[in-house]
Formats: sequence, structure tokens, C-alpha cells
Amino acid sequence: MQRPNIALRDLRNRLPALQAFITERGGEVLAPASEWEVLRFRAQGSVHVVSRQASGHITYGGDSALAVQCWLAKLPWRGSDSHRGQPGKRLRSQTVRTLLARDGDACFLCGRPLEDDITEEHLVPLTHGGPDHLANKVLAHADCNKQMEHLSVMEKIRLREAQRS
Ligand SMILES: [Zn+2]
Repeated sequence: MQRPNIALRDLRNRLPALQAFITERGGEVLAPASEWEVLRFRAQGSVHVVSRQASGHITYGGDSALAVQCWLAKLPWRGSDSHRGQPGKRLRSQTVRTLLARDGDACFLCGRPLEDDITEEHLVPLTHGGPDHLANKVLAHADCNKQMEHLSVMEKIRLREAQRS
């Protein structure tokens, strides 16, 4: 994995978009533990931290470089835990559990069972001012989530109807 090609100032300016990238793919953005931490998040069951040094250089801890690289290069990335065949080890966030209870075990887009392939999808993207609230969230497979990227709510609904007809 090459080092993400982004300067500290750009990273800080674009942090909300990176945080949205992580949460929309099942990761969880955590509060920084010190003033040196630019970003702290949980993904795939571990905590990853992007920090700054006094020199202005960025240090990538855990697998944070991979997440930032995928975000910059618009590559698929998954922040959710996946333990296929090990149901006892599933770690689901309160949000996912609540959405499963509300909507059932079905992908918003294709309608097939989610099983362990679960991502949170914001109907109105955070980057477009959508609220990070349950009312704006549905569950979808990672690939289905990817298909809905950059679509408006109406476009998502049309795509959903087309896939189900
Ligand atoms: Zn799906």
C-alpha cells in the first residue's frame, strides 16, 4: 500500500468527506484522543488513527492509509466487520441493529437478504447535507451501496424499482 498522496491541510479541509466515506461503508468515526490525532475510526474490528507530527507530516496507524487511499482513488473499501460463517462473532453497531429491526434483513436496493454484507447508506448523502440520523439511513450490500453512490434520492428509488421489477 503506497502512502496516500495528500497534504495535511488538504486532509483537514476534506475531513468531513473522508468521515462520510468511512461511515457510509460501515466504519465508525471516533473522537480523536489527542490534539495530534486528525482522524480516529473503527473498521473491521480495529481502531485506526491518522495523526499529524509537529513537522506537519502525516502518520498512518493501523490500516488508516488503506482507507484514505481508497477514498482518494475512489476505490471500494469496507469498514464493516465481516465474519462469514461465524455468526457468534458478528459485531453490529446499535444503528445497524436498529435498522435491521425497522426494515428487516433486506438490502434497500436489491431486496435480497443482507446476511453479513451490511453497509449503512445515507439516502441523502452527508456530503449533500443529509443528516446522520436513522431517518436518513437504510442498509444495503457493499456493492449495492457503491451503485447508489452519487445518486439523488429519486435516482436511488428508480434504480431500486428497476432492480426489483
Ligand atoms: Zn443489495
